[in-house]
Amino acid sequence: MSNNTKKQLPSGLATETLAVRAGMDRTHHREHSEAMYLTSSFVFENAAQAAVMFSGEEEGNVYARFTNPSVTLFEERLAALEGAEACIATASGMAAITAMIMANLSAGDHIIASKSLFGSTIQLLGTILPRFGIETSFVSLTDPAEWAAAIRPNTRLLFCETPSNPLTEIGDIAALAAIAMRHEVLLAVDNCFCTPVLQKPMDLGADIVVHSATKYLDGQGRVLGGAVCANKAIVEKIFVFLRTTGPTLSAFNAWVLGKGLETLAIRMRAQSAAALELAQWLEAHPAVERVYYPGLPSHPQYALAQRQQSGGGAIVSFEVKGGKDAAWRVVDSCQLLSITANLGDTRTTLTHPASTTHGRITPEARAAAGIKDNLLRMAVGLESVIDIRNDLSLGLPA
Ligand SMILES: *Cc1c(COP(=O)(O)O)cnc(C)c1O
Repeated sequence: MSNNTKKQLPSGLATETLAVRAGMDRTHHREHSEAMYLTSSFVFENAAQAAVMFSGEEEGNVYARFTNPSVTLFEERLAALEGAEACIATASGMAAITAMIMANLSAGDHIIASKSLFGSTIQLLGTILPRFGIETSFVSLTDPAEWAAAIRPNTRLLFCETPSNPLTEIGDIAALAAIAMRHEVLLAVDNCFCTPVLQKPMDLGADIVVHSATKYLDGQGRVLGGAVCANKAIVEKIFVFLRTTGPTLSAFNAWVLGKGLETLAIRMRAQSAAALELAQWLEAHPAVERVYYPGLPSHPQYALAQRQQSGGGAIVSFEVKGGKDAAWRVVDSCQLLSITANLGDTRTTLTHPASTTHGRITPEARAAAGIKDNLLRMAVGLESVIDIRNDLSLGLPA
């Protein structure tokens, strides 16, 4: 959790500037790049200082399960980018989502969440939290009326991920925020796919933003991490939960993620622009049946995406003519793209959701979710668009 004792930056700075400047705290060595604080504990001047810092009467680092300067830097930088009052980092994206819920909800409380969520998030909400008395109703991401209708007296949290994976459906954050405000419940948005560079959920009324920093915030496929951005009161509750239960971010990973944020804006814009070019090319390709990309006018929620996001993002999904065999042929013909379900890397990845990320659910459930056997999901990286196109062409009959 950030202590906010640092030199103030001028106000009104742009995202790009905050990404490379926010959170900096030089030591007496006057280093230009951030120091990495590989230390598990911190020493005190005397017994009295130890006492006031342990009690929390005075702010200061005590033990790295509580705070660490490398972690604080990443938290302050991400809070600045999301336009949040505060931020708290976690060991992974799932730790962020779990801590956010465990710190704010109790047995007997109710969550409303979109159906199309990250697999482990569905597992958490659908099977683990019910054992602790927290129930979730799953509703359509694209229909705010379903959310409003699912509200109960014990509802405490609305939770969505937009755009969704892999079909890139868009949730209307402002509409969900209005429902949350009317019923005095919290709205949390998983902003993993867009990052604050392309979408600022808090500006649209969200109370909480959660991140898997493992994806675009690192952006180079190196470390796991997560974060929750919110107001100080919510972040303080999560801090107490994390300090006690321990899934905190390591100093090393925090340092890597802080550097990742420095190039986030330039990477996101480049990857999003490349994704749009590839989506347009795929849409015109005779071997492609359908393309799912929020930046294409053919996307059912193109207008909402234009309003809510400043780019379509880097995830392009598409259906290949000829069923599963044709889709697998594209994957197996690639000489360049990585066959992996990971996303948010500088290297373009390609996956067949029906047999990987969505392979363990029944064919009926898959059909209901709209995941067809001929669907492929591509997470566009930083290679040349021409090289990516040539690689896909190897398995797509002209
Ligand atoms: C990967 C991912 C997560 C989980 O993050 P981890 O860092 O792997 O724990 C949560 N939400 C979304 C949208 C993701 O893509």
